[in-house]
Amino acid sequence: MSKRDYYEILSVDRSADDKEIKKAYRRLAMKYHPDRNPDDHEAEEKFKEATEAYEVLADPQKRAAYDQYGHAGVDPNSGGGAGFGSGGFSDIFGDVFGDIFGGGGGGGRSRSARGADLRYNLELDLEDAVRGKSVKIRVPSQVKCNPCGGTGAAKGSKPETCGTCQGAGQVRMQQGFFSVQQTCPHCRGQGKIIKNPCSSCHGSGVQEEQKTLSVKVPPGVDTGDRIRLSGEGEAGMQGGPAGDLYVQVTVKDHPIFVRDGRNLYCDVPISLVDAALGGELEVPTLDGRVKLKIPAETQTGKMFRLRGKGVEPVRGGPAGDLMCRVMVETPVNLNKKQKDLLREFQATLDKDGTHKHAPQKHSWFEGVKSFFDDMKL
Ligand SMILES: [Zn+2]
Ligand SMILES: [Zn+2]
Repeated sequence: MSKRDYYEILSVDRSADDKEIKKAYRRLAMKYHPDRNPDDHEAEEKFKEATEAYEVLADPQKRAAYDQYGHAGVDPNSGGGAGFGSGGFSDIFGDVFGDIFGGGGGGGRSRSARGADLRYNLELDLEDAVRGKSVKIRVPSQVKCNPCGGTGAAKGSKPETCGTCQGAGQVRMQQGFFSVQQTCPHCRGQGKIIKNPCSSCHGSGVQEEQKTLSVKVPPGVDTGDRIRLSGEGEAGMQGGPAGDLYVQVTVKDHPIFVRDGRNLYCDVPISLVDAALGGELEVPTLDGRVKLKIPAETQTGKMFRLRGKGVEPVRGGPAGDLMCRVMVETPVNLNKKQKDLLREFQATLDKDGTHKHAPQKHSWFEGVKSFFDDMKL
């Protein structure tokens, strides 16, 4: 597959400066970021393409190689040193976006050393999601291995300097036009070889432990929101910065309320008599019960809006509404006297005709009648 020109991908001139390139990438990344385009394969490809272009053009050395030799000069598959790995993403990201996505950036330039981001799934009750809450979560964390003091070597032994790279972790190799630095294949970039690994950590020098973190859930969060805990992800290697921990929120179903963004919905059963004569209902809200006046002749399914009784969104703005849908309930377990009263009642209605007391039933029958009349043509 032939690759598109990096300048073309970012829609910048070949003479564009760093600022223009960064701006162009930022615009594309905001548009195609996977978080904003879930399950959109095309957007994901565009995002990767733009990221790759940016990674090359933002680096003066890679850019010079690209300008001179094109893709062959920087293509990771052709053996060049300018590898583009998935590990690079977060780094560039922090670089370009700073605090927008909470990049933080700062620390290590050596991308392979940054710890991985972790994800923690947090289930919340609707009430807690609406009001906010401080929650304690337990997450795995890596600490220095005690028996070997973090060296990774068994007691009484020490890691030895790698003979292939003399401890540098990198080796030079001739690849076509270039002499490139590559990670030492013998020690995998560590610069040291552990001949006799520690039995507790198997040579990694770190051990897993559970740590307890306090997460402040802001009021108004909803399913799909995530809270970032900077530096609480996996520990970095070789002194690199730790990754971040993303707390992914899921709000549990509520027995009474259904939430849709800032609005809440609930069904409220009312009696046939209250619906006909009007009355006062007690309806639930997240802050307790409130009274709701129902006008006479209320039909089933009618929605009543309680302003401001919904949810205050986490990103600001006014609270939504609580929508109460009344459901007229058919009475059950009637005794003989009650049934007789209803029959007697129905007879009085029938005398007046359906158009008077049952407007919906009346117009429905009219509709059916004209439907069959039309068919007879
Ligand atoms: Zn080595
Ligand atoms: Zn150990």
